[in-house]
Amino acid sequence: MPESMTSVLSYRHNGRHMIAVPPAKPLSCLNVVRTLGKNPGAVAQGWMPVVATDSSSVGNLLTVDLEDWYQLTGDLMAAAGRSHGNILARQLDRLLELLAKHECRATFFCLGKSLAPRPDLLKRVIGAGHEVATHGWEHRRIPRIGLRAFREDLIRSIAWLADLTGKPVTGHRAPAFSVPPQDLDEFYDICFDAGLAYDSSVFPYRREGLAAREIPSRPHIVRQNDQRRLIEFPVATVTWARRRWAVGGGGWWRLLPGSAIQSAVARLNRQGIPFTAYVHPYEFDTCFLNAVRAAGPSWRTVTWTLKQNLGRSSMYAKLDRLLTRFRFGAVEDHLRGAGLL
Ligand SMILES: [Zn+2]
Repeated sequence: MPESMTSVLSYRHNGRHMIAVPPAKPLSCLNVVRTLGKNPGAVAQGWMPVVATDSSSVGNLLTVDLEDWYQLTGDLMAAAGRSHGNILARQLDRLLELLAKHECRATFFCLGKSLAPRPDLLKRVIGAGHEVATHGWEHRRIPRIGLRAFREDLIRSIAWLADLTGKPVTGHRAPAFSVPPQDLDEFYDICFDAGLAYDSSVFPYRREGLAAREIPSRPHIVRQNDQRRLIEFPVATVTWARRRWAVGGGGWWRLLPGSAIQSAVARLNRQGIPFTAYVHPYEFDTCFLNAVRAAGPSWRTVTWTLKQNLGRSSMYAKLDRLLTRFRFGAVEDHLRGAGLL
């Protein structure tokens, strides 16, 4: 039995009893919803996983955090007051070109602060046919600002994005996957109340400040009422040597060989789990990104510059090969195909 199934059968989280769909009877996403309908009390008590067991039909999710390259250095660059819209445009065009080559529709989590001064970049994404979702406004980590400020930031970004696109915003990713494990319930309440249909803010491997490893590694329903539901799409992890490893993107993708990433995708798909990947436009840029020069020397800018440039030149070829071998798409298409949106 796959680990991801055994880990979600029945457990307690924050003092609440969690219930999972028994794996003995394979369930499609739609069947899970029907199961929920028969047992609404279970929904109120906890989470139900969204299970796809037919590996041949598993589509994977490609998500893009659309933001300026320096966001991971946080306030340092923002304080410098620099605008890098042209760099972001160059990086975005390179990524859009690669996606167009593979006719791959992706989900773009758009950061208000980066895109508001450059609505033309957002129009390029929409014009290329991709899904637009929110990455918040300021990119300030939730533990630093608290849930009240997070809520205001989220609402601001949703209003801005809905106004620009003329459509409701259905998806969200928190900055740097920064949801504190102890605040997960309240975080989901805020997302649900904001009208979101899905979230992808959890990267469930062992790392301080990130949601804890007991969280299911496959997509699962976290909130539901009579009208709608909120589904979490955790970024991909694989279990090896009794621990979870982060294989869904970021530094792991820059350092891992492409063959290892492909093995991880195949492994999850064999278990009927869609692989949720995330990338940033700056990872497809060939220029050296120098946070030290841009924001001054500090421990953070030095480590960022070293970490983020390492292996970055290999990202284009890795994603190119991945999209050649596997089917990736936008989150909303995945949900719609499963009858969940
Ligand atoms: Zn981000």
